[in-house]
Amino acid sequence: MTRKLIVGNWKMNGSLAANHDLLHAINAGLTSSSCQAAVCVPAPYFAQVQHLCASSSLLWGAQDVSASDSGAFTGEVSAAMLRDFGVRYALVGHSERRQYHGETDEVVALKAQRALSAGITPIVCVGETLAQREAGQTAEVVKRQLAAVIHTNGHCISEIVVAYEPVWAIGTGKTATPEQAQEVHAMLRHQLSAASAHADKIAILYGGSMNASNAASLLSQQDIDGGLVGGASLKAADFLSIVAAASQ
Ligand code: PEP
Repeated sequence: MTRKLIVGNWKMNGSLAANHDLLHAINAGLTSSSCQAAVCVPAPYFAQVQHLCASSSLLWGAQDVSASDSGAFTGEVSAAMLRDFGVRYALVGHSERRQYHGETDEVVALKAQRALSAGITPIVCVGETLAQREAGQTAEVVKRQLAAVIHTNGHCISEIVVAYEPVWAIGTGKTATPEQAQEVHAMLRHQLSAASAHADKIAILYGGSMNASNAASLLSQQDIDGGLVGGASLKAADFLSIVAAASQ
């Protein structure tokens, strides 16, 4: 990977007024073309974000997509609906979805499939909990999570983005060290190369308390192709600092 990708995950934050100010500030500060930036936003704001990003290099995406095509699935948003708004990326399998909504590896794999078939790039999130890391299960857990997605989407696996997000680092202020993250990223790359001749082109992002101070050292690792950024994506200056670090 040459061009890094920095994706903000706004989670359930924002308002029409706050989004307007944030996107104006980000768009005004995005100068570099050596890094691709994107934001994943709450579904009610798709039309607003589509409008505000229409002539910007900032790409944008959704935070989830339904595993079903259409029909009696109250509250769900389908891949076709995302496509109607020109959504470019969809997070799938974020640890908060796995934890609070019981999403299994199989459901996450189906969500990735729905996104891909609508021409949307799924950002497939994998990561271990603290208990799993302490029990020495990190490799087993992340490989199992990714294997389900490869199994269902093998033919177009080179079209996905992967995000390694250790659950213990999300929103906690505890970041994996660059070496800890690189070790897992190298493992994921190896797993992807068994499934695709183009594994070197698949972006593997790191997520978990990435901020302006730690971004450069994480992003300097060989297999870290960018970042998935939660808290720090809600302040334009912080997000732009990470984008700048990724543009070095
Ligand atoms: C996330 O929500 O994907 C994330 C990485 O959050 P934070 O940066 O706040 O840890």
